[in-house]
Amino acid sequence: ETVFRTKDLTKVYDTGEVKVFALAGVDLELYAGELTVLLGPSGSGKSTLLNILGGLDHATEGRVWFRDLELTGLRDRGLTRFRRDHVGFVFQFYNLVPSLTARENVQLVTDVARNPMPAAEALDLVGLSHRLDHFPAELSGGEQQRVAIARAVAKRPEVLLCDEPTGALDSKTGIQVLEVLRQVNDDLGTLTVVITHNAEIRKMAHRVIWFQDGSINHVDVNSERLAPA
Ligand code: ADP
Ligand code: ADP
Repeated sequence: ETVFRTKDLTKVYDTGEVKVFALAGVDLELYAGELTVLLGPSGSGKSTLLNILGGLDHATEGRVWFRDLELTGLRDRGLTRFRRDHVGFVFQFYNLVPSLTARENVQLVTDVARNPMPAAEALDLVGLSHRLDHFPAELSGGEQQRVAIARAVAKRPEVLLCDEPTGALDSKTGIQVLEVLRQVNDDLGTLTVVITHNAEIRKMAHRVIWFQDGSINHVDVNSERLAPA
């Protein structure tokens, strides 16, 4: 089941002197329930793609669909609604509110979502049941990122987009955070798209899309992960 589809997706940054083709005509499909990883050298277009899929940025040319909804046909207000209704984001930095506990940080989202899970349930999913009433400063970096993941999934989004979620963590902690993303993907069946340089993710992913110079170089399908459990 296709969730995202792009057709000749192109993003050009025109700095005056040079034109940078951050995305140079990308055709891809992303499928429901899959843990999909974007890999490739720095500058190859991964973040640009993630931002356009998440409705944070506009394409220069080409088209993008989220199911039947054409994102490239929406203006800012429509993209805002799309993000609110369908997308959870996880970034390198956790952006937790320091004066609120873990539970209260997640409740900021669950209070306004249409069909949320209880904040405590979201924190249980990421293994933080014992940290509900801790403040961010009382948590490790890995734990703070797990709170951010709980916040992102608590509204039950159809898509979870993660841009370098392990970028600020040491490699051991980073692997633990990737394991949490894998667990969330298993438990909720959320299409999860991850940009990371952490090689461990390749074993966990259903599909790895390799970027080079704004284009897809090749796609690896992990047949072991795709096989029914
Ligand atoms: P990746 O995520 O693979 O590191 P990016 O999508 O961040 O790659 O960047 C792709 C290309 O677009 C790079 O050459 C980068 O320098 C350029 N780029 C990204 N954002 C901007 C911007 N706001 N202005 C100009 N160029 C940009
Ligand atoms: P406007 O240009 O008036 O702000 P929008 O870009 O917000 O219009 O939306 C254009 C159309 O796309 C709307 O009529 C709406 O029905 C549809 N639409 C926008 N966002 C969503 C969404 N998240 N889910 C489904 N349909 C949407």
